[in-house]
Amino acid sequence: MGEWKCQKCGYSLQADKPPEQCPSCKEKCEFVDVTCYIPDCGQTGGDKRL
Ligand SMILES: [Zn+2]
Repeated sequence: MGEWKCQKCGYSLQADKPPEQCPSCKEKCEFVDVTCYIPDCGQTGGDKRL
């Protein structure tokens, strides 16, 4: 399970892989893997700017 965020609207969801269509935009958006950028991930590393 990972955390995905829509680059267009910022909508985030948890799934094994990003959806074909953003539930918020209703469009084919680019999703970025923000799994380890969420506070409760417990892992270190990653881009601190996010
Ligand atoms: Zn979206």
